[in-house]
Amino acid sequence: MPELPELEVMKDILQDNLPGRRIEGVEIPRPIVVRNLTELHSSHLVGKAFTRVQRRGKFLILSLDSSDHLVINLMLSGQLYFCPSPQRRLAKTFIILRLEGDMDLRYVDARQMGKVYLTRDLSLVPGFARQGPEALEVTFESFKERLKRHRGEIKGVVINQVFVAGIGNAYADEILFRAGVYPFKREPCLTGKEIRRLYEAMRAVLEESIAIIRERMGDQIHLKFRDFLAVHGKGGSPCPRCGTPISEVRARGRLTNFCRSCQPGIMIGRSCSLRG
Ligand SMILES: [Zn+2]
Repeated sequence: MPELPELEVMKDILQDNLPGRRIEGVEIPRPIVVRNLTELHSSHLVGKAFTRVQRRGKFLILSLDSSDHLVINLMLSGQLYFCPSPQRRLAKTFIILRLEGDMDLRYVDARQMGKVYLTRDLSLVPGFARQGPEALEVTFESFKERLKRHRGEIKGVVINQVFVAGIGNAYADEILFRAGVYPFKREPCLTGKEIRRLYEAMRAVLEESIAIIRERMGDQIHLKFRDFLAVHGKGGSPCPRCGTPISEVRARGRLTNFCRSCQPGIMIGRSCSLRG
C-alpha cells in the first residue's frame, strides 16, 4: 500500500507531467472502483485539461480546468500507470484516461480495494475531511498535544489518519524502529523523550524515504520500493542495528515488524508495558 513517501513522489511526477495536458478519451472497463460524488459523468472529463496535482494524506488529487477533481485512494493494491497509449493493458485495468501526447493515465487494481472519486467537493470524499495534519507539516507541539487524544497502542495511533495523515503500516514500523519505541506500548505510557524521538524519527524516516524513492522511481509511478526499509517486511532477518532476528507479529489485523531488543516491551492489556 503506498504511503506518504511513495505518494509524495508520485504526486511530483504527475505534477511535472499532467498540468496543461488534455483528456482526449475516457474508458472505464470496470466501473467498480469509481465513486461519483457529484453530478459528474465520466464523459464530462473528455476535453478537460489537468490544472494541478496534489497529495493530502494518502489521497492524490488531480484537479481539472472544469473545477472537478479526480481523487484517488490506492488503498492496498491500487496502482497508477503513466504510460504510452500503445502499451499493453493489464487485466485488472479499471480506468484509462487517454491524454494528449499519446500517453495514458491508467488505474489498475488487482484486489479492487482502491477508490477513484469524481467530485467537485473534496469534503464529500469519505475520510478526507477528518484527516489530521500532514505528517511532515505537524509541529512538535501539535504532535504532542494530538497524541494525548489517542489512547491506544502507539502503532495504531501513528497509522490513524485522524492523528496525522499519510502514514500506514509499513512506515509506522520504520518510524517506531528508528525511535526505539515498542509498537504495542500504549500512548499514556510514552515518556517525554520517547515522544520527542518518535516525532524526530517520523520526520527523518519520511524525508529520507522520499529522497530514496525519488532517485529510483523515474516515471514508473506504478512501482513500489520497499527493499530499503529496515524492519518492515523483514521478519526473521537480522536487525540492522543489533543483529537480533526481526520479530513479526500479526495483531489487530495487521502485520507488525520490530526488533525485540531495540524496541523492548511486553504486549499486555491497558497498563504500561515498560517504563523509562
Ligand atoms: Zn535491534
